[in-house]
Amino acid sequence: MQSYVEVAINLPQISDTYHYHLPEDLAGSVLPGSLVIVPFGKQRVQGVVLHFVETPEVAKTKPIQDLVDEKPVLTASQMALAHWLADETLAPLGVCINLMLPPGLSQYTDTLVRLNPDRKLDPEELSPVEKRIVNLLKKRGDLRARQIDAAIRHVEWRGVLRKLARKGIVHTQSILPPPRVSPKIVRKVILTIPLETVDDLEEPLSRVHQVHDRRMRILRLLAEKSEPVEPSGIYAQVGAKYNDLKALEEKGLIKQLDIQVWRDPLKDTTFVPASAPELTRDQKQAWEKISAGLSEVQQGRVPRPFLLHGVTGSGKTELYLKAVRATLDSGKKAVVLVPEISLTPQTIKRFLSRFPGQVGVVHSQLSEGERYDTWRRVRNEELSVIIGPRSALFMPLENLGLIVVDECHHESYDQQDSPPYYHAASTAVAAARFAGAAVILGSATPRVTQFYKTISGDWTHIGLPHRILAHRETIAHYAQQLGFDLPIKTGEGQAADLGLPKVSIVDMRQELQSGNRSIFSRELQTAIQHVLDTHQQAILFLNRRGTATYVFCRNCGYVVKCPRDDKPLTYHHGSNELVCHTCGYRRQVPKRCPQCGSRQIRQLGTGTEKVEQLVREQFPEARTLRWDAETTRKKGAHDRILTQFTNQQANILIGTQMLAKGLDLPLVTLVGVILAEIGLNLPDYRATERTFQVLTQVAGRAGRSPLGGRVILQTYEPHNYAIQTAAHHDYAGFYEHEIAYRRELRYPPFTRLVRLEYRHHDARQAEETAQQLAGVLRQWIHSEDSSIEMIGPVPCFFSRLYGRYRWQIILRGADPTIILQDRQLPDWIIEVDPPSLL
Ligand code: ADP
Ligand code: ZN
Repeated sequence: MQSYVEVAINLPQISDTYHYHLPEDLAGSVLPGSLVIVPFGKQRVQGVVLHFVETPEVAKTKPIQDLVDEKPVLTASQMALAHWLADETLAPLGVCINLMLPPGLSQYTDTLVRLNPDRKLDPEELSPVEKRIVNLLKKRGDLRARQIDAAIRHVEWRGVLRKLARKGIVHTQSILPPPRVSPKIVRKVILTIPLETVDDLEEPLSRVHQVHDRRMRILRLLAEKSEPVEPSGIYAQVGAKYNDLKALEEKGLIKQLDIQVWRDPLKDTTFVPASAPELTRDQKQAWEKISAGLSEVQQGRVPRPFLLHGVTGSGKTELYLKAVRATLDSGKKAVVLVPEISLTPQTIKRFLSRFPGQVGVVHSQLSEGERYDTWRRVRNEELSVIIGPRSALFMPLENLGLIVVDECHHESYDQQDSPPYYHAASTAVAAARFAGAAVILGSATPRVTQFYKTISGDWTHIGLPHRILAHRETIAHYAQQLGFDLPIKTGEGQAADLGLPKVSIVDMRQELQSGNRSIFSRELQTAIQHVLDTHQQAILFLNRRGTATYVFCRNCGYVVKCPRDDKPLTYHHGSNELVCHTCGYRRQVPKRCPQCGSRQIRQLGTGTEKVEQLVREQFPEARTLRWDAETTRKKGAHDRILTQFTNQQANILIGTQMLAKGLDLPLVTLVGVILAEIGLNLPDYRATERTFQVLTQVAGRAGRSPLGGRVILQTYEPHNYAIQTAAHHDYAGFYEHEIAYRRELRYPPFTRLVRLEYRHHDARQAEETAQQLAGVLRQWIHSEDSSIEMIGPVPCFFSRLYGRYRWQIILRGADPTIILQDRQLPDWIIEVDPPSLL
C-alpha cells in the first residue's frame, strides 16, 4: 500500500503545504519532522514532513525524492508547537516551521557518495571523468560532494555522478554535514572542593594530601577568584608549572575544563560568583515553590507557569541559575530567553561560568553558518542549556525540563518584523506545555496582561520584594583605587537587604516659573555636580519613543488632546498641524495655552545629542558617553560603550531605552530622567504601561551597590499615576489603576485585539484598500460573531514607513480571530494580540 505525507516546503515565499507519496525504499525511515527533498515545479526543494495522510488531495502525487537526514529535524513537541503557533497567530504553518529550522538550511545539506560494493566494474564502460570519480572513491572511501569538489576542480562532475548513480555504480544520499566551525574554547582551571575548605583546612589539606607550598598557593588563588582561571594566569601569579596543576588534578582538588568562551566587556570589573551563594530568606521561599514545580515535571506533570516578580537586583537570576542546575541534575535540559544578547552580557556570563561547557549562546549577530552549527550541536544533544533571544525558543532540544523568560515584559519578545507575529512569553508557556516542562517568567514590571494571569489563577505568583546588597568587593576595590572613603550602607555580608533608591519627582513647571530655563532642574544640576565631585557615575535617560510628537505647555503642563477621543494629538512637521490618529481630527498648533494662556506651548525638541551638548556646556569636567540608536549602529558598539563606561572612561552616560536593560553598574549612583512623561502621550492603550515599565527599569539602574543612589524624575505632569507609582516603586498601585482603565475601556486582558495593516506607496490606494476591507469585515463580523467591534480604518500613528502609507483596522472582542480563521488576506499584515497599536 502506498503511504502519503503532507510536506511544508522550506522556501520563504511558500506557505501552503503539499501531498507526496513515499517510494518503497524510504517507507519506514521517513517520519513526521523529517527533512526531505521533493520535486516542486521544476525544482528540487527541501521540505519538512508534517504527518501521514490517508488519502491525498490530488489524484496523482509525486514521490519524495530523498531523505536528508535519518533523524527528524523537528522534535515531536516542536511539531506541536508549530501547529499551535499557526493557529494562534493566523500565520501559515510553513512559516511557523521555518522558525524552527536554521536559516539557509538548504545551503548546508550535502550529498554523500559511496561506491556500490556489489556492482562489478568493467573498466571499458567508464568515461574518463567517471573513472576519476570511481578511483577517488576507491582511494578515499565515502565522500561528500564538497570533498569531491575540492578533489576534482574545474570539471562539471555532478552530471557524471548522476549517470554513475543510474548505472548503479554509486549510491548517493543527502546528508546534513557536521558543524564546521567550533566556538572558541579555552582551558580553565577550577576548584573541585568547596571554597571554604581551602582556608579552613589548610593544615590538614597540606598534611593529608601532601600539598606543598606552591600548590597550596594555587588553591588559594582559585578560592580567591572563585571562578574558572586560565592556566597562564596561574603560572604568572603563582610561579607554578603545568606539573603542579597535573598533581593537584590527580589528587582530585582541581579540575581542568574546556570552556566555551563569550567575549565579555565586563570581565574584570564585576564580581561573578561561580558557585551558588546561599539563598536569602526571600529567595528560599521562592525556591520552595519553584522546586515543587520542578518535581512535578519529574513526575510527568506540567506545573502552572511561575511569574517571578521581583525588583531589579532582588536575586531572580540567582534563582534561574538554581532552577537550571536542578533541571540538569535531573537529566533534563533548559532554555533561557533574554531580551537581547548584546545588552545582557552580564547575565550570559553568569550562565557560562556556572555551567561551563554546557551552554550554547544563540544570538542575532551569529552568521548563518554559526547558527547552523549551534542548531546541529543542540540536535546532537551536545549542549544542555541554550541562552538567547526569542528565537532560542525554537531550538531542537529533546527532553526539555525548563524554560526561563528573563524580563518577560520586554518588547523584544514580540516578533514584529515578519510573520508569524508571535509573542515569546506566551509561546514559551505553550512550548513548555508541549514539552512537559516548567516555565519561569521573571520581571520587575510584568505586563498587566501577565500579572492578570496570576490573579485569574492561570499562573503562580512569586514575589521577591527586596533588593540584595551586592558588589561589596567591587566597590571596596574602586574605593581603594580612587582613594575615597567608602560610605558603607546598612547590612553585613554579601546578601544584606539594600532597599530601593530614593526617587524624587521634580515639577518642571515650577523650574520655569522660578526662572530656570535649562532642561536640567536645579536639583538635577546639584546631583550631577556631586557625582562628578565624588568620582561616581550618572545616567541621564531620555525616552526614545514619542520625542517631538506632541505639543504641551511648559508653564502648566497642559497637553493638547483630541476633543473627541481625549488622546494626545500628534505633531506633524511638514504641515505644522496636530492630528488625531484615532479619528483623523486635525487642528493648527495653538499659539497660546488653552489652559493658562502662556505662550510656552510647543513640542519637545530634545534628543540625546542635544542633552549631551548641554551637559558638556554646563559641566566642562564631565566625560560623556552616548548610548542610543545612532551610536550603537555598528557591530560590537554595545560592548564598547559598556566597557568604556565600566572602565570609567566616562562618568555620564546619556541614553535611551537601551539603558533600561538589566545592567548592573555598581558606580552609578544617580539616574536622571530628563522628561518622565514622554511616551505617556502616545495614542496607544499600552503607552502608560510602557512608560511605567521604562521608568521603573531606569530607576533600577541607580544604587545597586553599597554606595547607594538616587533617581530624579523631571516632569510637567507630576501627578500622573504612571510617574507617581514608578517613583514609589509601587507596582501594585500601578496595576490597580491600569487594570481598572483596561476594564472600563475594554482593552486586554478583558478583550483580545487583532490588528490588520495595509501598506502602499500611494496614499489614496492605501486608504481605499483599507475602506474596502472594512466593508468585507463588517459582513464577516455579521455572519460570525456580531459582538466583535471594528475600530477604523484609520492611518497608523507612524503613518509612513519606508515610503509607504500605513492604514489599519482593529478588531476587538472575546476572540476576534474567528473572523479571520480560514480566510486569506495575503496583502495584509495581521497581528493577533498586537503589542502596540501605533
Ligand atoms: P535580579 O536578577 O533580580 O536583578 P540578581 O540575581 O542579579 O538579581 O542579584 C542581584 C545581585 O545580588 C547580583 O550581584 C547577585 O550576584 C547577588 N546575589 C543574588 N543572590 C544572592 C545571594 N543569595 N547571596 C549573595 N549574593 C546574591
Ligand atoms: Zn498652559
